[in-house]
Amino acid sequence: YRVKNTGRDGYQVFTADMAGTTQRLRLEQDMHRALANQEFDVVYQAQIDSAIGEMVGVEALVRWNHPRLGRLEPSEFIGIAEDSRLIAELDRSTLRKSVRELAKARQEGGRGLRLSVNISPLMVARDDFVDTVLEVLRQEGFPAQLLELEITENLLISDRQDVIAKLQRLNEIGVNIAIDDFGTGYSSLSYLQKLPIHTLKIDRSFTRQVKACDDGACIVNAIVAMAQGLRMNIVVEGVETMLQLDYLRALGCGVVQGFLYGQPDSLERLWQRGAAPEALAASASHGG
Ligand code: C2E
Ligand code: MG
Ligand code: MG
Ligand code: MG
Repeated sequence: YRVKNTGRDGYQVFTADMAGTTQRLRLEQDMHRALANQEFDVVYQAQIDSAIGEMVGVEALVRWNHPRLGRLEPSEFIGIAEDSRLIAELDRSTLRKSVRELAKARQEGGRGLRLSVNISPLMVARDDFVDTVLEVLRQEGFPAQLLELEITENLLISDRQDVIAKLQRLNEIGVNIAIDDFGTGYSSLSYLQKLPIHTLKIDRSFTRQVKACDDGACIVNAIVAMAQGLRMNIVVEGVETMLQLDYLRALGCGVVQGFLYGQPDSLERLWQRGAAPEALAASASHGG
């Protein structure tokens, strides 16, 4: 929270809570207007094939350019959007914007970059979810085969038939499904066999454990082995160091994502930046 310092210790916590609640209520009110006013935009994080060192896809990440508070991160507003049921509208708008931008890049000669979009469970729950995805793809002229939707494991806990049917329909259309933050949810693993899941995204809390080259006992290894056994793709999130990258390459983990390649940014700047880890890119641009 952005909290005013009252200078009176006893009131500090109370004020912070009040400010937090007030802020939340205001943000919720603001969000209605913000959707109409186009205050949300999309940045992208590169997904890099670690074997060939090429950008093969991007993940769309929403940002809110709030007129009073400046640029807000998802952690500051996704929860509010979910509580107020505005999340489906927000997800739909992010899906459309990112699909449109990727379709345009393709027409302008960009290669067949894949697009990953985060989808809230509340969006999946809507009756018109699959139709919305289909409509966006058709209207924007983007191939279903290049779209991946990221859902979280918790969505699959309840084994709900309607969710399963929707994922199967998307699969038939050619849209991929990824499990985001894999390993941090509470569902059983049986869904991996029952459902059309194409990709496991290893949560960055596991990537962080990779600190030494010979650290063979970490969870990342186990998830990779399982994914290979199930013939699923792996995306490793939160790759921040060269050591982690080297380790993952040696393990044969296809695709990586992380601050090692820079912060999420506009599509144009990702293209300019290329697929070199940031340290390498910086030294190259300084002529070394
Ligand atoms: P996520 O889908 O797991 O996205 C990855 C988050 O980790 C992003 O944060 C990204 O900036 C951050 N990240 C990437 N690489 C690194 C790294 O190397 N180190 C660290 N420490 N962090 C890294 P961001 O953009 O703040 O998004 C946070 C979460 O908000 C996302 O997690 C996703 O669950 C949610 N989100 C973002 N955009 C949308 C959206 O359009 N719709 C919905 N429903 N959720 C979204
Ligand atoms: Mg994600
Ligand atoms: Mg994630
Ligand atoms: Mg997440």
